[in-house]
Amino acid sequence: MKPLKELVRPNIWALKPYSSARDEYHGKAAHTFLDANESPYNVPLNRYPDPLQEELKQAIAPLKGVEPPQIFLGNGSDEAIDLVFRVFCVPQRDNVVAIEPTYGMYQVCADINNVEYRKVLLGPNFELEPHRLLEVVNERTKVVFLCSPNNPTGNCLDPDAVETIVRQFQGIVVVDEAYSDFSTKPQFRLRLNEFPNLIVLNTFSKAWASAAIRLGMAFASPDIISLFTKVKYPYNVNALTMQAAADILGRRFEVDRWVKQILQERTALLAAVSELPICQRVFPTDANFFLARIDQAGRVYEHLVSQGIIVRNRSGVTLCNDCLRITVGSHTENNRLLAALRQYRPQS
Ligand code: PMP
Repeated sequence: MKPLKELVRPNIWALKPYSSARDEYHGKAAHTFLDANESPYNVPLNRYPDPLQEELKQAIAPLKGVEPPQIFLGNGSDEAIDLVFRVFCVPQRDNVVAIEPTYGMYQVCADINNVEYRKVLLGPNFELEPHRLLEVVNERTKVVFLCSPNNPTGNCLDPDAVETIVRQFQGIVVVDEAYSDFSTKPQFRLRLNEFPNLIVLNTFSKAWASAAIRLGMAFASPDIISLFTKVKYPYNVNALTMQAAADILGRRFEVDRWVKQILQERTALLAAVSELPICQRVFPTDANFFLARIDQAGRVYEHLVSQGIIVRNRSGVTLCNDCLRITVGSHTENNRLLAALRQYRPQS
């Protein structure tokens, strides 16, 4: 890896961050807080939340097998994706490289930040070809984005291929593991200490069943996390979100049961969809969704909408022609989907 200072935008390296009242005093002993222009009424929502979310990080660290200084918490993992650009990429000069197809926010954040976004096609079975990716990297490439299990394809990238990139690329490698709780494949989050250039993303929106609270996680070296902390909004995670996160962390055995249930449903749903006459192919998945290549995918999508069932039509996405992306739902939801798919009559 290049020295961090060479990878970070010079203005960010030099940035003196905003210091909030709660940064200046964060002891527990005081009883009279007259430092932050808060109201004394409407307890406890009158108080600003902890800008560093220390208690929540303490609770998350052992579950995720990392140390609290290796954790960034944000408003969804989308906040962390945006911060990667704002910390590392000089607009109109640097570039990032990502697999294609993949999660759309990497490109959106690149476009918003005016940073060139280079795409490297996955192979015919959506596999990562590390040497092809590394050929696209140049001296202005600051970040490589990988997503495993990948959205929308559902498959995990081969860990050896990911490792080749993490070892050979001298910049930052983001491995988005938003869906890794549904997979049995090795997770790069657990190898942070081996790779100083690695950032791994996780979220409360998928297995943790808490998309509404908007809480995402980035795991990286304490040096990288400090840079994120310096650039983020001072109170980027609100108190209601922290409370809801603490609650769901306390129910982790229930979460494990939900994941098991979804995996059982996934097996049954994949088998049933692959037997439909309109189904050309179901792609293997390590996530809580799968991609299915379907005859007349656009019409099937509209038919499902007319039945009140919404899946994602990914037909327009590179390598995903005629593909629907289907999230695994509850047993009842999946049965409704299957009934509607069986009812569809192909049109000539
Ligand atoms: N990464 C991937 C691969 C995703 O599919 C999504 C959401 N669909 C996210 C990140 C964003 O998740 P969050 O809700 O934490 O912003």
